[in-house]
Amino acid sequence: MSLTELFKTKTVFSLEVFPPKKSSPTEAILPTLKRLQSIHPDFISVTLGAGGTDHCNGTVEIANLIQNQLDIPAVSHVPGLYQSKEDVLALLDRLDSINVKNILALRGDRIPGKEPVGDFNHANELVAFVHEQRPDFSIASACYPNCHTEAPDFVNDITHLKQKVDAGADHLISQLFFDNQAFYDFKEKTELAGIHVPIEAGIMPCTNKNQIERITQISGVPIPKKFAAIMDRYQNSEEAMLDAGIAFAVDQIIDLVSQGVDGIHLYTMNKSKIAKRIWNETRSVFEAADTSIQKDHA
Ligand code: FAD
Repeated sequence: MSLTELFKTKTVFSLEVFPPKKSSPTEAILPTLKRLQSIHPDFISVTLGAGGTDHCNGTVEIANLIQNQLDIPAVSHVPGLYQSKEDVLALLDRLDSINVKNILALRGDRIPGKEPVGDFNHANELVAFVHEQRPDFSIASACYPNCHTEAPDFVNDITHLKQKVDAGADHLISQLFFDNQAFYDFKEKTELAGIHVPIEAGIMPCTNKNQIERITQISGVPIPKKFAAIMDRYQNSEEAMLDAGIAFAVDQIIDLVSQGVDGIHLYTMNKSKIAKRIWNETRSVFEAADTSIQKDHA
């Protein structure tokens, strides 16, 4: 079943991992992936060059492990900024050869001091190119419930989001956010703009104050008072921060699923134990939501 079809049948639960550092072999991630396999996610996506790191190797190899060793649908991230059309076609061929036909088409994070190639300055150009060249691929794109940091305003950002969908993106994965109301307001804006593809909510369990500060600085995502208080109160206790960060993410997920979200995309940060704890505490909520979806379709 294609990912697009999957959204019609259930509340999707997907995970995101990133390749190990260049100094580690790709296989170093296998134990983490095997632990994540026990959660039975609907798909696992693998980043490529995220955070402005120079394009690292390993994404295709990890997608191969996920798709062909673990038997879980894999999604390869494909950032366009530093790739030519030929590079993208070669990457799609490599993915095709391992039976991975799902990509997340992105502009990509900027690499300081490195000049973009110029073939894909925005994600919509990459989406259109892939859609035209390889119509057999399923294409996801990114969206931003708190508005993209470079956009002058929401109207501008949503207009560009609509371009990506019109160009062929068949599902969207959101940037992380900590305030569900921001996601609901964003959803309303997308509907008004005529965007009707499934939108997965990106949830990042934050269990470490430094990590949260770094991520929110890069992404521009605001930290709500409730979460800031948790960080201030528990920052010196690793165990309390872990429990509180997981509880916060679980709370977000339960609310989103009960409001009928299309899917949850968990930024695992390669921490399988945290992902497993979150799944164990929310699994029944997904299952109950899916029973009602199936009743609606019956
Ligand atoms: P775009 O859709 O191109 O948007 C970027 C900005 O340009 C926005 O402000 C938008 O409003 C504006 N814009 C869009 N189209 C146009 C246009 N045609 N004309 C003028 N302005 C336009 N980065 C990586 O490098 N590797 C990864 O693996 C990775 N994974 C990610 C996964 C997810 C789920 C998310 C949410 C982000 C990920 N990123 C990754 C980060 C992403 O590359 C950055 O957020 C980047 O700044 C924007 O990417 P985009 O695809 O949303 O870009």
